[in-house]
Amino acid sequence: KTVCVTGASGFVASNLVKLLLQQGYSVKASVRSPNNVAKTEHLLKLEGAKERLELFKADLLEDGAFDAAIDGCDGVFHTASPFLTGVADPQTELIEPALKGTLNVLGSCSKASSVKRVVLTSSIAAVAFTPKPLAPEVVVDETWFSDPDFCKQNKWWYVLSKTLAEEAAWKFAEEKGLDIVTINPAMVIGPLLQPTLNTSAESIANLLKGSETYPNSTLGWVNVKDVANAHIKAFEIPSASGRYCLVESVVHYSELVEILRKLYPTYQLPEKCADDKPFTPTFQVSKEKAKSLGIEYISLEQSIKETVESLKEKNFVQ
Ligand code: NDP
Repeated sequence: KTVCVTGASGFVASNLVKLLLQQGYSVKASVRSPNNVAKTEHLLKLEGAKERLELFKADLLEDGAFDAAIDGCDGVFHTASPFLTGVADPQTELIEPALKGTLNVLGSCSKASSVKRVVLTSSIAAVAFTPKPLAPEVVVDETWFSDPDFCKQNKWWYVLSKTLAEEAAWKFAEEKGLDIVTINPAMVIGPLLQPTLNTSAESIANLLKGSETYPNSTLGWVNVKDVANAHIKAFEIPSASGRYCLVESVVHYSELVEILRKLYPTYQLPEKCADDKPFTPTFQVSKEKAKSLGIEYISLEQSIKETVESLKEKNFVQ
């Protein structure tokens, strides 16, 4: 079978392309800069790439740019979307590529009669951010949808970009009768294949760089190999539908630091919280739907280990 992966050079997508090639798929991979060795070399070196990987140039903001990559594919995995923090201009750096980019890709999908299903890489960012307070007994599940106004009020621009993109995707799919499924992972960690440091892996790297404090933040975490696997299962299983939250565990940064301390006692790890407010509350995320894709999560401890080993190997941390 032939499938398209958008934004193939990224952290999540590279792991997805690797697994697709291992499973015998032919992959049409879109990248922004096919001539930039740093963006493509790790993909071209993957097992099976020589025979079954083809690169296409496409920018999210260029109308119809994905037509060639998508035409003739049975399935499309749309992962391309900027995951950035601290942007100067949220509208152009995050919201436009996420929202217009998603509609651009879905537009190409609806033109290609070969496409049976589109798997969209959304995020827990599009699920959990509502005025409903989070607390240890609260169980977030796929029925939740983040509230754009609440995101704007809090200036959570990345969260807003993912929420608007997913909302627009469902509307488009319904109007055009396109079969889409969304994967909604929490913070993704695990082995990096690409030579650059992506935002979620950076959050682990930051803890290992001698900082005195850790963020006062509670987040869900999941291994990139489980995320890649869930994408493929969501394409392959005919009855898969709707959204799938992917979260192995929800922990405060203080707990992440404790796990790191146990695994890597020689690192100088942060000792205190970045502010003196109460710790942000923990919450639960339902694992029920993900189970129906056959996902059995890699433990957080194992995921942290794989991330740190990868960060060391690539010299992002000493
Ligand atoms: P990366 O930064 O590693 O990858 C982002 C990808 O998007 C890159 O390939 C990038 O291309 C591409 N991209 C960005 N802007 C454009 C554009 N204008 N045109 C074409 N391509 C563009 O991040 P991740 O792998 O972490 O993220 C991949 C997806 O997973 C995103 O949709 C993200 O929202 C989602 N996600 C990630 C989570 C995480 O914790 N990592 C959690 C939940 C969801 P280039 O290489 O050229 O910059």
